[in-house]
Amino acid sequence: MIHRLTISELTTKLARREVSAREATQACLDQIARVDGRLHAFLSHHAADALAQAEAADAALQAGVTHAQKPLLGVPVAVKDVIAVKGQPLNCGSKILGHYVSPFDATVIEKLKDAGAVVFGRLNMDEFAMGSSTENSAFGVTHNPWDLTRAPGGSSGGSAVAVAADECIASLGSDTGGSIRLPAALSGCVGLKPTYGRVSRYGLVAYASSLDQIGPFGKTVRDAALMLGVIGGHDPRDSTSVPQPVPDYAATLDGNLRGLKLGLPKEYFVGGLDPEVKRAVEAAVKTLQELGAELVEISLPHSDYAIASYYIIATAEASANLARFDGVRYGARVDGADPIEMYGRTRGAGFGPEVKRRIVLGTYVLSSGYYDAYYLRAQKVRTLIRQDFLRAFETVDAIVTPTSPTAAFKIGEKADDPLQMYLIDIFTVPCNLAGLCGISVPCGFTASPKLPIGLQILGKPLGEPAVLKVAHAYEQATAWHKQKPPVDG
Ligand code: GLN
Repeated sequence: MIHRLTISELTTKLARREVSAREATQACLDQIARVDGRLHAFLSHHAADALAQAEAADAALQAGVTHAQKPLLGVPVAVKDVIAVKGQPLNCGSKILGHYVSPFDATVIEKLKDAGAVVFGRLNMDEFAMGSSTENSAFGVTHNPWDLTRAPGGSSGGSAVAVAADECIASLGSDTGGSIRLPAALSGCVGLKPTYGRVSRYGLVAYASSLDQIGPFGKTVRDAALMLGVIGGHDPRDSTSVPQPVPDYAATLDGNLRGLKLGLPKEYFVGGLDPEVKRAVEAAVKTLQELGAELVEISLPHSDYAIASYYIIATAEASANLARFDGVRYGARVDGADPIEMYGRTRGAGFGPEVKRRIVLGTYVLSSGYYDAYYLRAQKVRTLIRQDFLRAFETVDAIVTPTSPTAAFKIGEKADDPLQMYLIDIFTVPCNLAGLCGISVPCGFTASPKLPIGLQILGKPLGEPAVLKVAHAYEQATAWHKQKPPVDG
């Protein structure tokens, strides 16, 4: 059962030579062979390359390299298909990149490799990270390991499922409006969206550049903290990355919440919230109180406008970012009589319907005559949302909410109704608009069918230590994270 280990457990065993990196990697590959035919979390993986990296890690361990020097030495970590790994395919869940292979490593990948991780596999996702269910992948849907007829959440559905079903020890995803936290909640694992600027975006294919952030999925809060410690930090190749040093996140995980003040936004506990989700989150709040935290009601008055402004800003940025996929620079091309016809045919054939919808919407809200009415106004609302949060953080250390209004929904249930799909992000997008950090941790299950529920903890910019501390204390006081999905049985 090596594949079931957490990073902390595996590195302890590796250090004691009770397990080798090769065995750990092989255990993940075996688990993929066992369950991924039903889950489809992976788009591809290169077993021989993964095992070669594992053998190099074993040689380093043999030579006396420690986990204090290389914190992820020998740990298999899989990667969302939107992050560049040298020599591996990079498709962003889209057909438009064709057989493109990345010629370089993203900064986060360089950092993972420097830390000794076995970096393997391409994880399924909504095309260009646009979606909340992983149904928008051009390569087929990923299934929820708790109920194969349900979606895992998105857009990093593959990253969440691979961790929840023990196909890797940890993974990377990206979060523009909830794409790490939502699938973590719906698939039953931990997902951390770092503060905007905490992690370099160099080598992350851009969706909405002012909102995108790479972050980890893990089986425990401690694992997410360890991963963030490795991938975080300033990068001269991403001018929006912040120069602040990376703290030792794991050191803040002491389980003690005495003296901490946590805010409950009253706007997040009304209408639309599934009663079972509400009950689970209320019980979690009680647990946090018992652990010594003081809970206070707060108000985030502009919450109602978050979804509307997010879907204007994100689509506007996407329409600009996706202009580069033109059949000239990268990937697939469909020829035409002249360049304009070639662009049209290439983009017409290469992009799926949701990506096209976003490009059309984004181009519209940026067009002359509509720019002020939509884009500019959305930017003003974004400032108001950020101010709501910064005001709240003057009195509270972190904010506690549900991660999503419902547990996992059926595959196909919302696919024909984009607005219903967009509304799933209601509790996650404000964090991105305001540039905050946030985590989702398992906090219970629905009764029938049994589906995971996520608790979201939000922190101020660079407030990861407080967020991780609260999440860890909660996790250690409960056993939700230890439950395994039935897909294995
Ligand atoms: N569901 C949201 C969207 O489709 C968020 C996606 C994300 O965070 N990448 O835009």
